[in-house]
Amino acid sequence: MNQIIIRKTEELKVWRRNLKSDINFIPTMGNLHDGHQKLISTAKSSNFNINLLSIFVNPLQFDSKEDLKSYPKTVDKDIEIAFSNGADAIFIPNIIDIYPKNNKSISYLKASKELSSALCGVKRVGHFDGVCTVIYRLLKLIQPKNLFLGEKDWQQLLIIKDLIEEKKFNIKIIPVPTQRDSDGVPFSSRNKHLSKNERKTLKLFSNELKNAKIIFKKDKKIDLKQLTNKLKSKNISIEYLEHLHPYSLKKVQANDNISFLAGAIKCGKTRLIDHVFLMKRKPIIAIDGPAGSGKSTITKLIAKELNLLYLDTGAMYRAISWLFKKEKIDYAKESELKKILNNISIIFKSNSISQQDVFINNFCVTEEIRSQEISSIVSKISSIKKVREFLVNEQRKIGQSGGLVAEGRDIGTTVFPDAELKIFLTASIDERAKRRKSELELRGSEEIDFNQLRELIRKRDFEDSTRKISPLKKANDAIELLTDGYSINEVVEKIVNIFNLKIPKEIQLE
Ligand code: C5P
Repeated sequence: MNQIIIRKTEELKVWRRNLKSDINFIPTMGNLHDGHQKLISTAKSSNFNINLLSIFVNPLQFDSKEDLKSYPKTVDKDIEIAFSNGADAIFIPNIIDIYPKNNKSISYLKASKELSSALCGVKRVGHFDGVCTVIYRLLKLIQPKNLFLGEKDWQQLLIIKDLIEEKKFNIKIIPVPTQRDSDGVPFSSRNKHLSKNERKTLKLFSNELKNAKIIFKKDKKIDLKQLTNKLKSKNISIEYLEHLHPYSLKKVQANDNISFLAGAIKCGKTRLIDHVFLMKRKPIIAIDGPAGSGKSTITKLIAKELNLLYLDTGAMYRAISWLFKKEKIDYAKESELKKILNNISIIFKSNSISQQDVFINNFCVTEEIRSQEISSIVSKISSIKKVREFLVNEQRKIGQSGGLVAEGRDIGTTVFPDAELKIFLTASIDERAKRRKSELELRGSEEIDFNQLRELIRKRDFEDSTRKISPLKKANDAIELLTDGYSINEVVEKIVNIFNLKIPKEIQLE
């Protein structure tokens, strides 16, 4: 496609109508820096959509006339940067085009009250309403598939996300982590206004936030008062400094795993913001669901895509079942049970074909535990209290520092009830029997009749969901996904998208 510059909304409408592809949209106020370049290059590498960047200094979101007047405008340079980084089209409307005089069809919107009454919204009255008004107008005109937003303006990102949900737009937000200069300062158009000394102050502030993050990793808490005093002692003029929940923007609670330390400071006349996300442990995804719902396949792919550890808890119950069978354990006898559980070690090891091997007491049982023989006894063995206590404890040890996706029956309810994302994966029983049959055929396992397989699954569902201790059950806060008719990739994409909206990208990349 030829690179194109569009300046009028009427022209944009015609271009949009004739466009066959979907659009990746990158809204900006110009004066493009490395942060914007990252947004454009991320859009370009995400898919084959048309990448449209807009440059519009929106007067409605400036609470000070002086700030609006002095906002750096470098359109010719911006065009060069945008095209050379992968933009296909640039929309540069003027004010009259976006806000025609006496036009009654323009909706002047209000930002979410909850989200805009914190942080920047306190002093910058009307700022986020202005953001919502312009974004809504641009989204209506452009109708993009994806919207690329920087996490640098985290509060703005949350407010736009809320707007998209409220207006029921079918637009996916793709967050891009804050880009920083070599001195740790986040790129921002307003950095242009800073004198040498003011830049030094900003650098001090950003570095103090970074230090706070290092301290938090160790202590798991932030002393806001102490940090505020430290910043003041360095002559940093603080507008706000807060430790909040990153999505509700409410005061952080003792049991919140992820939080957000955000501040705004004044450097001369320029107001600047920066933040760090804090994490007590890395994120955890819990995937539960009945037999044959596709958990293993989906969980493995998610682990790969999000660079998380993969924990197959079913394999642990299967391995124990295998061992009990081999050792002919009479598990009705408490003493026998205790003795064997005290001497069990289960280890997962990645093998050369990027699959995991399961070892129990040094026996590699990867293949054996998938047999029908094991499948038909595992539910009984997994309902034994002592077995569950032993394995839940082992699983929690593996997940202690997070950074994993675990699949099973009780992950969201019992093993990791504080997981950041809980998915309950299901499919109709026919669909699951069909999938299990092809899986067994692929493994070259023993011949098994469809109806017999269906009956085995039904029986296992029944046993798993009616047992006394941590039965198979959807956690209250789990998202249920019925996967009939969806391809594996579609389900993986869905889960990854939900994860991306629950965990800031900046944290995922740590
Ligand atoms: O997922 P998979 O089919 O390998 O699990 C085998 C069995 O292990 C399940 O049917 C269930 O009885 C048991 N299990 C469990 N809790 C888990 C995972 C599996 O009880 N978290």
